[in-house]
Amino acid sequence: MVAVSALVVEVVAWGPDVGGGAALLAVFAGLLAFAVRLYTAPTATSAPPVGRPRSRTIPQWVKIAVATRDGGKCRWCGSAYELQYDHVVPYSHGGSSDDVSNIQLLCGRCNRLKSNRYVG
Ligand SMILES: [Zn+2]
Repeated sequence: MVAVSALVVEVVAWGPDVGGGAALLAVFAGLLAFAVRLYTAPTATSAPPVGRPRSRTIPQWVKIAVATRDGGKCRWCGSAYELQYDHVVPYSHGGSSDDVSNIQLLCGRCNRLKSNRYVG
Protein backbone atom coordinates (compact mmCIF):
# COMPACT_ATOMS: atom_id res chain seq x y z
CA MET A 1 0.00 0.00 0.00
CA VAL A 2 3.00 2.30 0.40
CA ALA A 3 3.50 2.21 -3.36
CA VAL A 4 -0.15 3.07 -4.03
CA SER A 5 -0.12 5.95 -1.53
CA ALA A 6 3.03 7.35 -3.09
CA LEU A 7 1.43 7.12 -6.53
CA VAL A 8 -1.67 8.93 -5.33
CA VAL A 9 0.41 11.72 -3.81
CA GLU A 10 2.35 12.03 -7.03
CA VAL A 11 -0.79 12.12 -9.15
CA VAL A 12 -2.37 14.74 -6.93
CA ALA A 13 0.78 16.85 -7.25
CA TRP A 14 0.64 16.57 -11.06
CA GLY A 15 -3.09 17.05 -11.31
CA PRO A 16 -3.45 20.60 -12.60
CA ASP A 17 -0.60 20.23 -15.12
CA VAL A 18 -1.77 17.08 -16.94
CA GLY A 19 -5.15 18.10 -18.20
CA GLY A 20 -6.94 18.46 -14.88
CA GLY A 21 -9.85 16.41 -13.65
CA ALA A 22 -10.30 13.92 -16.46
CA ALA A 23 -6.73 12.58 -16.30
CA LEU A 24 -6.90 12.43 -12.52
CA LEU A 25 -10.24 10.63 -12.68
CA ALA A 26 -8.88 8.08 -15.18
CA VAL A 27 -5.95 7.30 -12.89
CA PHE A 28 -8.22 6.88 -9.88
CA ALA A 29 -10.59 4.69 -11.88
CA GLY A 30 -7.63 2.51 -12.78
CA LEU A 31 -6.53 2.27 -9.17
CA LEU A 32 -10.06 1.43 -8.10
CA ALA A 33 -10.36 -1.33 -10.70
CA PHE A 34 -7.04 -2.70 -9.51
CA ALA A 35 -8.19 -2.67 -5.87
CA VAL A 36 -11.48 -4.37 -6.80
CA ARG A 37 -9.60 -7.10 -8.67
CA LEU A 38 -7.34 -7.64 -5.66
CA TYR A 39 -10.30 -7.82 -3.31
CA THR A 40 -12.40 -10.17 -5.44
CA ALA A 41 -9.61 -12.36 -6.79
CA PRO A 42 -10.67 -15.96 -6.30
CA THR A 43 -8.36 -18.22 -4.37
CA ALA A 44 -8.09 -21.96 -4.64
CA THR A 45 -9.58 -22.55 -1.20
CA SER A 46 -12.40 -19.98 -1.12
CA ALA A 47 -15.80 -21.65 -1.01
CA PRO A 48 -18.00 -18.56 -1.55
CA PRO A 49 -16.57 -16.92 -4.69
CA VAL A 50 -16.87 -13.25 -3.76
CA GLY A 51 -17.69 -10.89 -0.92
CA ARG A 52 -18.18 -11.64 2.70
CA PRO A 53 -18.42 -15.12 4.16
CA ARG A 54 -21.92 -16.59 4.25
CA SER A 55 -23.77 -15.51 7.36
CA ARG A 56 -27.16 -16.19 8.91
CA THR A 57 -27.30 -12.57 10.08
CA ILE A 58 -29.43 -10.36 7.84
CA PRO A 59 -27.59 -7.11 7.04
CA GLN A 60 -29.21 -3.82 8.03
CA TRP A 61 -29.56 -2.64 4.42
CA VAL A 62 -31.48 -5.81 3.54
CA LYS A 63 -33.80 -5.35 6.55
CA ILE A 64 -34.55 -1.78 5.49
CA ALA A 65 -35.22 -2.82 1.87
CA VAL A 66 -37.46 -5.71 2.95
CA ALA A 67 -39.44 -3.67 5.50
CA THR A 68 -40.02 -0.99 2.86
CA ARG A 69 -41.02 -3.49 0.17
CA ASP A 70 -43.37 -5.40 2.46
CA GLY A 71 -44.91 -2.21 3.84
CA GLY A 72 -44.21 -3.10 7.47
CA LYS A 73 -46.72 -5.96 7.41
CA CYS A 74 -46.67 -9.75 7.36
CA ARG A 75 -46.36 -10.86 3.77
CA TRP A 76 -48.74 -13.76 4.27
CA CYS A 77 -51.60 -12.39 6.37
CA GLY A 78 -50.98 -8.63 6.52
CA SER A 79 -50.66 -8.54 10.31
CA ALA A 80 -48.34 -5.96 11.85
CA TYR A 81 -48.05 -7.94 15.07
CA GLU A 82 -44.82 -9.59 16.22
CA LEU A 83 -43.05 -9.11 12.87
CA GLN A 84 -39.93 -11.10 12.09
CA TYR A 85 -37.47 -11.28 9.20
CA ASP A 86 -37.76 -14.68 7.58
CA HIS A 87 -35.56 -16.48 5.06
CA VAL A 88 -37.82 -17.59 2.15
CA VAL A 89 -35.37 -20.42 1.49
CA PRO A 90 -34.11 -21.26 5.00
CA TYR A 91 -30.49 -20.52 5.78
CA SER A 92 -30.05 -24.17 6.68
CA HIS A 93 -31.24 -25.07 3.16
CA GLY A 94 -28.70 -22.79 1.49
CA GLY A 95 -30.80 -19.60 1.44
CA SER A 96 -28.95 -16.30 1.38
CA SER A 97 -29.16 -13.61 4.09
CA ASP A 98 -28.06 -10.72 1.91
CA ASP A 99 -30.39 -11.31 -1.02
CA VAL A 100 -33.44 -9.08 -0.60
CA SER A 101 -35.56 -11.51 -2.62
CA ASN A 102 -34.83 -14.27 -0.09
CA ILE A 103 -35.95 -12.28 2.98
CA GLN A 104 -39.55 -11.43 3.87
CA LEU A 105 -41.49 -9.99 6.76
CA LEU A 106 -43.71 -12.51 8.55
CA CYS A 107 -45.68 -12.20 11.75
CA GLY A 108 -44.78 -14.64 14.51
CA ARG A 109 -47.78 -16.86 13.82
CA CYS A 110 -47.06 -17.25 10.10
CA ASN A 111 -43.35 -17.73 10.73
CA ARG A 112 -44.10 -20.58 13.15
CA LEU A 113 -46.52 -22.15 10.65
CA LYS A 114 -43.83 -21.95 7.99
CA SER A 115 -41.13 -23.38 10.27
CA ASN A 116 -43.25 -26.44 10.85
CA ARG A 117 -43.24 -27.17 7.14
CA TYR A 118 -39.46 -27.20 7.03
CA VAL A 119 -38.83 -29.63 9.86
CA GLY A 120 -36.68 -32.46 8.60
ZN1 LIG B 1 -48.83 -13.44 9.29
